[in-house]
Amino acid sequence: MAVNIQAIRGMHDVLPEQTPLWQYAERIIREVLSSYGYSEIRLPIVEKTELFKRSIGEVTDIVEKEMYTFDDRNGDSLTLRPEGTAGCLRACLEHGLLHHQTHRLWYYGPMYRHERPQKGRYRQFIQLGVETYGMSGPDIDAELILLMHRLWQKLGIREKVRLQLNSLGTIAERLAYREILVAYFQQHKDGLDEDSLRRLDTNPLRILDSKNPEMKDVIANAPELMAYLGIDSLAHFKAITTTLDDLGVAYEINPRLVRGLDYYSKTVFEWVTDELGSQGTVCAGGRYDGLIEQLGGKANHAVGFAMGMERLLALIDWNTDSLFSSRAVDAYMIRVGRKAELQGMYFAETLRDKIPALKLQVSADGGNFKNQFKKADKSGAQYAIILGDDEVEREEIAIKSLREDIPQQTMTQVQAIDFLQGSIKSNKQLMDGYTMSLKEKNSNKTRS
Ligand code: ATP
Ligand code: MG
Repeated sequence: MAVNIQAIRGMHDVLPEQTPLWQYAERIIREVLSSYGYSEIRLPIVEKTELFKRSIGEVTDIVEKEMYTFDDRNGDSLTLRPEGTAGCLRACLEHGLLHHQTHRLWYYGPMYRHERPQKGRYRQFIQLGVETYGMSGPDIDAELILLMHRLWQKLGIREKVRLQLNSLGTIAERLAYREILVAYFQQHKDGLDEDSLRRLDTNPLRILDSKNPEMKDVIANAPELMAYLGIDSLAHFKAITTTLDDLGVAYEINPRLVRGLDYYSKTVFEWVTDELGSQGTVCAGGRYDGLIEQLGGKANHAVGFAMGMERLLALIDWNTDSLFSSRAVDAYMIRVGRKAELQGMYFAETLRDKIPALKLQVSADGGNFKNQFKKADKSGAQYAIILGDDEVEREEIAIKSLREDIPQQTMTQVQAIDFLQGSIKSNKQLMDGYTMSLKEKNSNKTRS
């Protein structure tokens, strides 16, 4: 027997019982984004390798060791996108969208990084990316934070995540600080691990980001960037924290927060949780004005963030018994006999015309009544719609509840349409009621 082929390590299937959870979260995300006037952009999954090298920076974990890079048949080096910021900016530059314009954009889809798979860390994972262009002031930085804050509230996880904020200043300020930081680490070389020693020359700020517990003290005592920021950078940062204070959004200032990617300037932030072990960052982002020029555009402004969907979903309390095991199928049509098969197919199409919300499965591969009733039951449907030769002869339909002990009813096609329409309506009311109570439950939690 042939050996089964399995999925690639760190790349996962989302099975049908899980997809309603994804769809629920995706719907809330779309609603929140559109309530702030953000538009979707759809981007290729593969880009030229050069794009990521130039934007993410050669000396980052992503470019050094995590990218899925391969040669196209014509010899071009291509890469499965490890993140979306570079591709989004590439697209906007390519289509001239950044010329005297502002944009508020989002994209959603898989990203690829060759990391060591573990809970909350995969080789294919789904990100929501949000990017804004053309706005220099602190308002837009604050808006993004408010948007995320609203999202957590709607998803009922507000109390599980904390906002961490820092400012990396301008590039000039960062360069000046870099020298001071290098001098400090030079004095404490003994306390640095191999990775950090290497970064001392190439990307010393990243040493602050190290998760090696043995370096905790060296890092804690390092000089802080905030002390070297100029008036403008400080004012920008202050304006953000003032807005957050005014609107009651709590935050912590984390002077060690430098983010993994090279392209940030001024604002950086992360939403972190204590519930997912070391994969505790759910969402991260900041301002990256410098990247636009780095990719060949005119000097401009950009702020954005990316959120990991798997980590987000892991934080939500799912009430799987009710909403999320919601029926995939409302009705199952049983057809026995040649005429019934034909007429059933025809009636099923009529039902789909008349009741677009009805989820209807039609029997396939024949079988006797007993056999088809089994399949109907297995489908999870609430009703069996039954067509045999008798029904065809009398131009009737029989409907039997598969979930309640009530007698089978025989009716005309028109009556059957009315009946099913009514049952869909009352089901929808039940579901709306449930969604409401989930929302209430979540907002109560937020308040307490
Ligand atoms: P980490 O420090 O956890 O490696 P990162 O700084 O590499 O994260 P970003 O590049 O900022 O992550 O990506 C934004 C978000 O995407 C992360 O906060 C996380 O939620 C998610 N993410 C990143 N890498 C992975 C991965 N390998 N698997 C699942 N989610 C991921
Ligand atoms: Mg990473």
